[in-house]
Amino acid sequence: MTAEMASEPVPNGVGNGVRRYLDVFRYTGRALHLVWSTSRGISICLATLSVVVGALPAAVAYVGKLIVDAVVGHIGDTGPSADLALRFVAYELALVIALNAAQRGIAVCESLLRALLGQRVNEMILEKALTLRLLDFEDSEFYDRLTRARREASSRPLSLVKRVFGLGQNAISLVVYGSLLLSFSPWAAMILALASIPIFVAETRFSNDAFRLFRWRAPETRKQMYLESLLAREDNAKEVQLFGLGPAFLARYRAIFETLFGEDSALTIKRGLWGLVLGLLSTGAFYAAYAWIVITTIAGQISLGDMTMYLLVFKQGQSALAALLSAIGGMYEDNLYLSNLYEYLQYAPPTGEGYVRQGTDPSDGIRFEKVSFVYPGTDVPALSDIDLHIPPGHKLALVGENGAGKTTLIKLLTRLYEPTSGRIVIDGVDARQWDGATLRKRIGVIFQDFIRYQLLAGENIGVGDVAVLDDRERWQDAARMGMADEFIERMPNGYETQLGRWFKDGQELSVGQWQKMALARAFMRRDADILVLDEPTASMDAAAEAEVFQRFRNLSTERMGIVISHRFSTVRMADQIVVLDGGKIVERGSHEQLMAETGRYAHLFQLQAAGYR
Ligand code: ADP
Repeated sequence: MTAEMASEPVPNGVGNGVRRYLDVFRYTGRALHLVWSTSRGISICLATLSVVVGALPAAVAYVGKLIVDAVVGHIGDTGPSADLALRFVAYELALVIALNAAQRGIAVCESLLRALLGQRVNEMILEKALTLRLLDFEDSEFYDRLTRARREASSRPLSLVKRVFGLGQNAISLVVYGSLLLSFSPWAAMILALASIPIFVAETRFSNDAFRLFRWRAPETRKQMYLESLLAREDNAKEVQLFGLGPAFLARYRAIFETLFGEDSALTIKRGLWGLVLGLLSTGAFYAAYAWIVITTIAGQISLGDMTMYLLVFKQGQSALAALLSAIGGMYEDNLYLSNLYEYLQYAPPTGEGYVRQGTDPSDGIRFEKVSFVYPGTDVPALSDIDLHIPPGHKLALVGENGAGKTTLIKLLTRLYEPTSGRIVIDGVDARQWDGATLRKRIGVIFQDFIRYQLLAGENIGVGDVAVLDDRERWQDAARMGMADEFIERMPNGYETQLGRWFKDGQELSVGQWQKMALARAFMRRDADILVLDEPTASMDAAAEAEVFQRFRNLSTERMGIVISHRFSTVRMADQIVVLDGGKIVERGSHEQLMAETGRYAHLFQLQAAGYR
């Protein structure tokens, strides 16, 4: 875990004090603001309807009392009394219709808001992801945070907002009920309030437990997602089937579920039992109040109409209070989950970008000065004390065993990572001072694990330069350079052919063909004066590879080129060859110089040459 992310704003239990408890609610304001800025119209609608739904039930109860009173004492009458009672019935009907309409309206608003808010929050999450560094993606704890944010965050803001409005609505009901009830007895209002508190405390406590479980589990959940992708994705199917791995992976998938479910069900059952016990308490309180109201009515102190109204008010008041408290408990829970989302959104990776767009000495090219790099979480340097100079126009080949540090060197040059020590200088300016976008435009790079985009053939090349992504002529030029033109033109729809198997009519390519695609993609960057190819031809046939490198060498004289390859027939064409071993440069020079040295390069070259004899 990186230092910036180590803060832990989530309290560990109710016992941690009221302040921390209240602290958790700070995301409510943000969620409300999020909703407001997502759609003002819907927000206003929701607020108005909530007020209506909050106030109407008490009005219905009051009209109910008027009806009963209009009936009691007038039984046997006809004429005006009956008319009055009927008029009240009609009022009640009107109120109930209005109430239903308002409730429907709330449901519609919420559905619309769910879609809008889900999209908005997901966009926020993805926009943030665009600003992250490669290092962040490689940090498993950070990745867990991203997973958690994505999993719950689109439903939680809506839930929080629903609860806030629910809270307002129930609070209004409660004030109205409370004032009606006060006219009966302040004690009745007190009973109503006291009986609900234990439920509230229990709910909050369980919210905390549930949230802690959720946080702990992100790694397991991620493991489960990974197993799903192994079992259910096209690119994994081949190996999983042939090795017969399916059942074993499925068993692991199930085992993770069972552990998680075990914890979940224990909590759910505990929650249910407590709910039952505490629910009994409030039922008891209700019936005590019921008996009291009945006795008072029999004693003649209140009318029959009053009795029906108080009973209704007490019952509904109790459920409004329960709803209010559970809304607070739920808001607490939603806030806990939102803390995740905002922790993620607030994380600001250090940019370390400068503003320089033009080097002070363009004739100097690229320099590595005592560059070392240690991957986070490891202690063996992947590169140590690398000194290198690539003048403009020069072609450099990197040679070395797997794990020697070749790709890491490229990642440092392309600024995917910062050197742990030392510096990289480009055109006389420290790479850290360069404007990131300017530098990226200058570098065309293809890694060995390039992406096979499930896009059109032409677009697969076009992505090499996003500014001209859809430029057909550029596709064709680049395809020619990468030797992809022949097979693309043979495909039924040429450059418009959908590649990959994910989408309809997708055409799958061979590994070598994909590699030519990637190569063409690198050539798409016409303005790039630094071209980097990390084992670009490993899956091509020998003739194709020789051809590619001829082209690579013939690139305009100012362009710098770096190539990683295991084929010495290719490597020997470079102006400068650097042999890496264990993160250090062990030999360097031209092919002729290195052969004359009869060191490691010469040995490896002989070995490979012998293989061909
Ligand atoms: P090469 O390209 O020469 O095969 P790399 O530059 O990929 O080698 O790797 C150099 C060393 O750095 C290896 O020991 C490898 O285990 C380690 N390494 C590579 N990538 C990572 C990473 N993302 N995180 C941690 N260690 C890494």
